Amino acid sequence: MRTALVFLITLLVGGQALADPFRPSVKDQISLGKRAAADVRKKEKVLPETDPRVQELRRIGNKLVTQIPEVERKRRPFEYTFDVIDSKDVNAFALPGGPIFFYTGLLDHLPNEDAVAGILGHEIVHIRNQHWASAYADNTKRRLGLAVVLTLLRAGDTVFDIASVSDSLLFSLPYSRRHESEADRVGYDMMSALGYNPQGMVDSFTTLKQLSGGGSRVEILSTHPDTDKRIQALSKRVSEEKRSFEPVQPRAEGLYKPIPEKTNSSHSKTSRLLVRACCQDGH
Ligand SMILES: [Zn+2]
Repeated sequence: MRTALVFLITLLVGGQALADPFRPSVKDQISLGKRAAADVRKKEKVLPETDPRVQELRRIGNKLVTQIPEVERKRRPFEYTFDVIDSKDVNAFALPGGPIFFYTGLLDHLPNEDAVAGILGHEIVHIRNQHWASAYADNTKRRLGLAVVLTLLRAGDTVFDIASVSDSLLFSLPYSRRHESEADRVGYDMMSALGYNPQGMVDSFTTLKQLSGGGSRVEILSTHPDTDKRIQALSKRVSEEKRSFEPVQPRAEGLYKPIPEKTNSSHSKTSRLLVRACCQDGH
């Protein structure tokens, strides 16, 4: 049913290269992201811009954004921002339209700048390629069902209503496996084109895996059968590289904190990166 519906919508909408009326526009994505980011800044302990971790994240993030072609920037002028939340959560996430947040529970344990660039590249691609907006549109169509969707499409109006987007949809709508693979693949392209060593991306996922479980919360890993596959796919790509790279760059002194021998329970909170990867399939 879902496949048939998506296929039909593709015929009706994609075939004529029209915008999917269920998908939030670029403008709406920017508004939604700003609203949600303001909320995050109010609720969470966001580090000041004088903190060296924030400066590092912004330096690498802004550099990665320069990889986005000018023509794409003009068409989709997303406003990328980079912030760090002081929290033991092992997490990083992107909001539609540009805001990206890292938790210190992840950032502090990334072993080199290339690993930071790896996660950042991945998150930037979710925004660039409008993954949340696509997931939102698919979710709406599934919820409404075929008959209603067709009626709305025939009416030819924009169906998306910005006011109807709840916070839970903004923060936890899962991305498809296809979107996660795309974020890995294009994120790799972006960081390696700048000279970052793509081994850093492998390191970042290995760190995520270690932090998410370390054996103490195996059930989390067991719901993410593709974490190892993602690491394998990235490692394979690194091993087949024709380009040569500088060795991974250590982070500035004091920024990297090795993972403690025994992962304590506060570290076993799951990462949204990994959760998003697991929960929606079939695309
Ligand atoms: Zn992702």
